[in-house]
Amino acid sequence: MNDCIFCKINQGIIPSEKLYEDDMFFVIRDINPKAKLHYLAIPKNHYKLFSQMTENDQANLGKIIKKISEIAPSLGLSNGYRLIVNQGEDAVQTVFHLHIHILGGERLPV
Ligand code: 5GP
Ligand code: ZN
Repeated sequence: MNDCIFCKINQGIIPSEKLYEDDMFFVIRDINPKAKLHYLAIPKNHYKLFSQMTENDQANLGKIIKKISEIAPSLGLSNGYRLIVNQGEDAVQTVFHLHIHILGGERLPV
């Protein structure tokens, strides 16, 4: 966990502009955007996979997804967006702290 880049961003050890933050999660811009707008919604609690979620993590994730829908307009995503969560090797997950990619700002490829 000490080496986790998203935990370090959460703690302010690595500076990053938080576009939204509450007690459950925060939103930052992806450093290597794959769409015109590409954000990461990052739960504050460290876990890598859905399979590792506690009951509290599960409850929070539902609230986080609802909150993303509420803040979407302020992120320039009024016309829709795509959520992606990479899980494990075959998905080429590169940061082992669960995060939700939020893509939009343009018509995305099908
Ligand atoms: P994954 O491949 O694990 O689903 O996604 C990790 C994402 O985190 C990648 O899209 C990558 O560009 C992004 N990323 C990695 N390091 C940093 C960082 O230090 N800051 C930000 N804002 N994004 C990062
Ligand atoms: Zn972490």
